[in-house]
Amino acid sequence: MPSKSLEKEIEEGSVDDTEIEYIERVYGWPIEKQLPFYRRLYKKRANMALALYHRNHPDEQYQFLQVRLNEVYSFIEYRLKDPDHMHMNFVALNIKTGLEKLFFAELCMLNDVYDANSGFVAIACEIIDGNCEGGRRIKCIYKDGKFPPDYYDGQNCYACGEKIRHPPGAVYRAGHDVLGYGVGEEESLVE
Ligand SMILES: [Zn+2]
Repeated sequence: MPSKSLEKEIEEGSVDDTEIEYIERVYGWPIEKQLPFYRRLYKKRANMALALYHRNHPDEQYQFLQVRLNEVYSFIEYRLKDPDHMHMNFVALNIKTGLEKLFFAELCMLNDVYDANSGFVAIACEIIDGNCEGGRRIKCIYKDGKFPPDYYDGQNCYACGEKIRHPPGAVYRAGHDVLGYGVGEEESLVE
C-alpha cells in the first residue's frame, strides 16, 4: 500500500495524475467549481501531448505553462473508427531558450475509457508558429455550393471554431469533414 507521502509526489495535471480521471463528473456544478477541475484535466492532456512531442523531438525540452479552457474543443469524427477527438492549444516554455511557444495537440480516445487516461492518447502535437489557421466551424465558406470532393478538406478543421489555431492539415487526422459537425455557436467552456 503506497504511503501518503509518495502519493503527494504526483503533481496535479502531470501525465501521472490518474486521480483527475476518476473525480466524479462535474456537469451541473457552478462554473467556479468546474474551472479548477477542467484546468487540471486539460493540463494533463497537454502534458500527454508534450510527452509525444518530446518522443518526436528528443533534443528539445518543453515545460507546460498554460491552457485556456476555451482553447480546448471535443468533437465526434464520424468518419473514423474511434470517433472521440479533442483539439487544443496550450503554451509551453522551452527550457533551454526561455521562449514560450504555442502548441496544437490532437488527442483521440483509442483505448479503454476506464484506463488511466480515460482512453485518450495524444496522436499529434506541433508548435504553431506563423503557419496556422483557425478552425472553420462557424464560417460558411461554401455558400456557392462548390464543396470539395467527398466534402473533405484535408487542409483545414471544420470541427473547431476560429480561436483554436491549427497547423497544416496533414498534421492532424480529424476535423476535415466540411459538413460533419453541425453549425452554430461553440459549446466549449468560456473563462
Ligand atoms: Zn480542430
